[in-house]
Amino acid sequence: MKDWLIEIRRKIHMHPELGFEEVETSKLVSEWLERFGLQVKRGWAKTGVVGLFQGRKPGKTAAIRADMDALPMEEANRVPYASQMKGKMHACGHDAHVAILLGVARFFSAIPDQVKGNIKWIFQPAEEGGGGGRVMVEEGVLENPKVDAIFGAHVFPFLPVGKVGVYEHEGLAAADQFTLKIIGKGGHAASPHVTKDPILTAGHLITQIHSIVSRNINPLDSGVITIGKVRGGTASNIIPDEVELLGTVRSLSPQVREELKSRIEQVIQGVVRSFGMECRLDYEYGYPVLINDPEMSKLVASACSKGIGKENVEVLKPSMGAEDFAYYLEKVPGSFFRLGCRNEEKGIVHPYHSSLFDIDEEVLPFGVEMFVRIIDQYLGLGMA
Ligand SMILES: [Zn+2]
Ligand SMILES: [Zn+2]
Repeated sequence: MKDWLIEIRRKIHMHPELGFEEVETSKLVSEWLERFGLQVKRGWAKTGVVGLFQGRKPGKTAAIRADMDALPMEEANRVPYASQMKGKMHACGHDAHVAILLGVARFFSAIPDQVKGNIKWIFQPAEEGGGGGRVMVEEGVLENPKVDAIFGAHVFPFLPVGKVGVYEHEGLAAADQFTLKIIGKGGHAASPHVTKDPILTAGHLITQIHSIVSRNINPLDSGVITIGKVRGGTASNIIPDEVELLGTVRSLSPQVREELKSRIEQVIQGVVRSFGMECRLDYEYGYPVLINDPEMSKLVASACSKGIGKENVEVLKPSMGAEDFAYYLEKVPGSFFRLGCRNEEKGIVHPYHSSLFDIDEEVLPFGVEMFVRIIDQYLGLGMA
């Protein structure tokens, strides 16, 4: 089905849609799922689609998930299938995820008698920051029938096509963010004694905050705090009224996540108070830590190995990036894995979210095969 997969992927690639706006993509998905004879429900989390295939014999329910959204950026690739939408691009490979899952649907719909148990297809909107996965979970996508295990994959430009990457336990980080406003009192730069200088406070605070990971977190745990934006001041001879700091806070366990948050709050309060300032802190939880079930990760590794050999399945170190697949894994066991999509010879080497990102389309049939093998092993279909 390679040509068909490429055609679908390119069609979606040419018409990228942003989070919660995946109207056309969602229509394309439902039409194919219906054609394959699945029970299809649309309108999940606005544009999400769920397909269900009930086997002839009873068994467990396995779910697989794809995200459908693109990014607000301009594509720089000069290829016939480049984005036709100004300022929008599938630069994270979600177009490939959709095509691969449709391929899996096509595969199983052709052999209904061999399916035991149920397979649920989850096509979700808005992975890139919108948390479409959280909305799908809240709307009950893991119920009726209850999902026993869930699998999701992401194309991976750091592994060559033909290889699979597996996270044994923690895969991706919790990604929270904060906005802090330090409120002082502005005035003339030559008379700091009659002002409250929020810039000096911000300077102290930035260095203090960076002591948290090095001094408060167990060196064997992982955490990162980055202050990525500092805003304040207008001229060299003016002390401003306010300074704003924006930061991201990442961790690989719920415990470290809470430790970081509470230490950040303490440091901010202490430093700000010591300078006689006021402050307003807005701390926002983002995606949770993505934690794979070790048994399910073993299953993914073993099922994929049967097709491509152990040497092509790599155990990956966790990354401090984030993924809203974490919301599904908070509710049911499962595993999130990677499908290599790099090809040096074809010049397909650019990272995610680059305007030159592309995939080696060999990953499409390859991805279908890996999902089929995983489902086969999980539901005990005895096909491999
Ligand atoms: Zn992305
Ligand atoms: Zn992505």
